[in-house]
Amino acid sequence: SPVPRIQLNDGHSIPQLGFGVFKVDPKETERIVTDALEVGYRHIDTARIYGNEAGVGKALADSGVRREELFVTTKLWNDDQGTDSVFDAFERSLDRLGLDYLDLYLIHWPAPAQDRYVETWRAFEQLRDSGRVRSIGVSNFLAHHLQRVIDETDVVPAVDQIELHPAHQQPATAAFAAEHGIRIEAWGPLGQGKYPLFDLPEIAAPAAAHDKTPAQVVIRWHLQRGHIVFPKSNRRERMAENFDVFDFTLDEAEMQAITDLEREGRVSTHPDSFD
Ligand code: NAD
Repeated sequence: SPVPRIQLNDGHSIPQLGFGVFKVDPKETERIVTDALEVGYRHIDTARIYGNEAGVGKALADSGVRREELFVTTKLWNDDQGTDSVFDAFERSLDRLGLDYLDLYLIHWPAPAQDRYVETWRAFEQLRDSGRVRSIGVSNFLAHHLQRVIDETDVVPAVDQIELHPAHQQPATAAFAAEHGIRIEAWGPLGQGKYPLFDLPEIAAPAAAHDKTPAQVVIRWHLQRGHIVFPKSNRRERMAENFDVFDFTLDEAEMQAITDLEREGRVSTHPDSFD
């Protein structure tokens, strides 16, 4: 595989480029993930709330790809937070995925109004100790949520999966994560199509210069910044396009111009006000 692996703080590693299935219709998921696996993706990012874990599982099972080559992430939904529900929610996700272990399990949102993410994290530590999941992490955690987990529990999350694209880079959270050995997974890496990133000259110009597409330039920027990414597309030709990013390099000036596009352009709900 052309995809580099990123070393995590727990000794495991993750393919830096994967395929995400947010908003992939459960009825189409098996076909779409099968396409992604045929294109070459080996890392799939799903979540219980996406409703498509079973379709992911079918595609994985039918692919013939060996389990150790695959990297599968799913996420605990907010209403399953708390010691009483985590273990059951985990088993049901694993069951739908048809797997006997998971590579990475994430707390999907901190949901601070519930004030259960620390307790939930302790349950995640137990899951990891049981060997049923190799790596554990969080999603949509800001620096102050990460700080609480670090202060009050024994295991530092392996990753924090946050909204991150050139218009919204969350520098404070990213710096905190780097300081503590937590790798950043950038969700919405292309701005979810909601940001007109592709027309910006800082992205369009290097695309033309390298004979690549603007989407490829944005993905390349993420990879060179060290982010783990899993852009989503239902279309096989775009899956292939998004995977074909290992034959060019953005130079320092091109990287800096894209980094300078930061404008706090969040497309999602603020993590402190989402339950
Ligand atoms: P994305 O930034 O990957 O954008 C996807 C959209 O970009 C597609 O629907 C398509 O419209 C467009 N696109 C894709 N490839 C393109 C190409 N080559 N050229 C032009 N347009 C293209 O957004 P996303 O799907 O939200 O994020 C990626 C993954 O991150 C998700 O599938 C999911 O796995 C994860 N995610 C996690 C959270 C979270 O809360 N943890 C939230 C959202 C997404």
